[in-house]
Amino acid sequence: MSPSAVADALRSRQSFILTSHARPDGDAIGSELALAFALKSLGKTVRLVNRDPVPGPYQHFPGVPDIELATDVNGHGDAVVTLECSDLTRPGLAGLDRYFIINIDHHLGNEAYGHLNWFDGSAASCTEMVADIIDALGAAWTREIATHLYLGIATDTGSFRHGPISARTFEMCRRIVRAGVDTAELSRRIFDSFGIGRVKITGAMICKMNLLHDNQLAVLEFDDALLAECGATVDDTEGLVNLPLGANEVLAVALFKPQADGSCRVSLRSKPAVDVRRVAAKWGGGGHKNASGCTLHGPLAEGRGALLAELGRAIDAAG
Ligand code: 5GP
Ligand code: MN
Repeated sequence: MSPSAVADALRSRQSFILTSHARPDGDAIGSELALAFALKSLGKTVRLVNRDPVPGPYQHFPGVPDIELATDVNGHGDAVVTLECSDLTRPGLAGLDRYFIINIDHHLGNEAYGHLNWFDGSAASCTEMVADIIDALGAAWTREIATHLYLGIATDTGSFRHGPISARTFEMCRRIVRAGVDTAELSRRIFDSFGIGRVKITGAMICKMNLLHDNQLAVLEFDDALLAECGATVDDTEGLVNLPLGANEVLAVALFKPQADGSCRVSLRSKPAVDVRRVAAKWGGGGHKNASGCTLHGPLAEGRGALLAELGRAIDAAG
């Protein structure tokens, strides 16, 4: 598929339900809202349905109050557009199989589900793809749209430090500035608008960090008790998994977050040569080569040891 084929499919329909993955990140929210604003500017009817709330720092972004939170999708829609979702379970919503699905994603391993799908692994964010769709639709880049396009690219690239960043990335950013966005101010809203709990949980997590595999593998962890102790929320931990990569020696990071149901969420990050997506995929997860995630079920110690051993092998394979 191409952006113009997606645009044709959107143009020929009137009402849309947009969604993205559970526990949405900046690219999920940015992609949904940029496309929603564009479709609305063309007179389309748009609903936004997500399973989980918008992270704190983005809650005051334009259009966010319109997002409905639900565990299933009902009601009329000529199509559901899934953004940023490598398979149809990622939104965490029941009932999606009843709709005409348009799948727009940049995650390697996208299952090409849906009635129409456009996958582009060369896009550094899903908002890069949405930008092309908006152009193919002929919709104007308003300041709201540009703000959300930037939210996606700034967060998915960790402020332009990783992912398949290209001339296309900066061409989009050039146009974002032309649309009237103050990117420095917006970056501060995205990255520097947490509560003091953020600073405290950062210190607590780094203090407890374990270094394995000759300092090449950093292991971080936090749980609800540590969050409470620091007066922090889960939102305050956004992006902290990247911190150990600031050391030359560290090639990969694993962050463990035990869940109330006994499972454990894992976030993985790495330097360019180390493929952590393959590791996440072994535990049923996915993502990108240098940023991926999965959930460990069953005995925690067992799964964690095996995953760390696999990360060690991924580091050796890159060496
Ligand atoms: P995070 O560590 O920030 O939760 O996720 C990093 C990247 O991996 C994101 O692109 C996210 O979409 C992807 N990811 C995280 N967890 C999962 C998972 O359980 N399954 C799949 N397919 N992708 C995941
Ligand atoms: Mn993304």
